[in-house]
Amino acid sequence: MRRKIAVIGAGVVGLSTAVCIAESLPDCSVTVISEKFSPDTTSDVAAGILIPKMFPETPLQLQKSWFKTTFDYLLGISKSHNASDAGVHMLFGWHLFKEIPSEEYPFWHDVVMGFRPMTDEELAQFPGYKFGQAFMTMKCECTFYLPWMVKRLKSAGGQIQKEKVTDFWDLHGKYDLVVNCTGIGSRELAGDMQLYPMRGLAVQVRAPWLKHFVRVSDGQTYMYPGRETVTLGGTTEKDNWSLKVDPITSQEVFERCCNLEPSLRKCEVVHDWVGLRPTRASVRLEKEVLKRGEDQLTVIHNYGHSGCGISIHWGTAWDATQLVKECVIVSRMALKAKM
Ligand SMILES: Cc1cc2nc3c(=O)[nH]c(=O)nc-3n(C[C@H](O)[C@H](O)[C@H](O)COP(=O)(O)OP(=O)(O)OC[C@H]3O[C@@H](n4cnc5c(N)ncnc54)[C@H](O)[C@@H]3O)c2cc1C
Repeated sequence: MRRKIAVIGAGVVGLSTAVCIAESLPDCSVTVISEKFSPDTTSDVAAGILIPKMFPETPLQLQKSWFKTTFDYLLGISKSHNASDAGVHMLFGWHLFKEIPSEEYPFWHDVVMGFRPMTDEELAQFPGYKFGQAFMTMKCECTFYLPWMVKRLKSAGGQIQKEKVTDFWDLHGKYDLVVNCTGIGSRELAGDMQLYPMRGLAVQVRAPWLKHFVRVSDGQTYMYPGRETVTLGGTTEKDNWSLKVDPITSQEVFERCCNLEPSLRKCEVVHDWVGLRPTRASVRLEKEVLKRGEDQLTVIHNYGHSGCGISIHWGTAWDATQLVKECVIVSRMALKAKM
């Protein structure tokens, strides 16, 4: 019997989890249910650079393995005929520090390519910066990647449905299993008060001459060239739920980037937008069995990817799929035992 699986959420986490399940469990039917789709998700706003942040309450080895799985998977796409459609490519650049950091080699340094301290010549371009790291990583642009993932899901037999879910129990009886990938929406849907928004603003500009990234260690200033535009950032505002773009902040972001890379002064601003990073001390990736009287509903949670959802999405999708597989096997065994 085909098991029916609902994945709630169509950001990078929901779609990657749905694709991973649909492609590895062809005898299950997968439906993505989401209030919003690309280009209206937080994932679309993301610069999409693969550089992880540290989750204080997740073992470092696990974070590294999520990152490596994602890096290797996207590297494969960047080398395939799908690279342009999927918006995935390699990107070289520099990470600048005003002071020498306590950790010159971050935990992910051997996952990216060619990680090394910047040379004096390289650093001399950025007065006021004492130290820098040079490396090649990936960029995954969700405005291309998410529509490409929807196509991939459909060709694996998956379906999509536009709808806001206000209660997991509304899916009971219609689906055998629910996978919750609602990002910041989980604060309301799963009642998770450990989850909070970290608002971020990004400005997209046209500057085709810029071919490398530059970022500053304060996390507030960065530029990442993409397929057609360069993403400039950014801001990090805890507990701010506003999705309105503030033109003064956009101008400040633009000025900071121009100070670092004066060639940007000539660029055309395409648009600016805001997203709410679903922030938590750890990604919530676990199985929960909800009970209501005699009824049970299994929910696999996969949310809380904070400021690095693109960087680790395939690793967490893979782990969530393993939890789904276990549930499917257990329910098949229970069914057989009844017969
Ligand atoms: C300015 C900015 C820059 C960033 N840059 C990077 C970067 O360079 N690299 C990186 O790795 N990360 C970056 N991030 C972080 C990244 O965007 C997030 O970690 C990631 O998008 C989270 O993905 P998600 O799928 O969990 O959430 P989302 O993209 O928000 O998707 C959630 C989905 O769930 C749906 N949903 C929510 N509630 C419900 C409900 N009740 N019913 C139905 N559907 C629901 C939504 O409609 C949406 O489709 C950045 C974020 C911002 C804001």
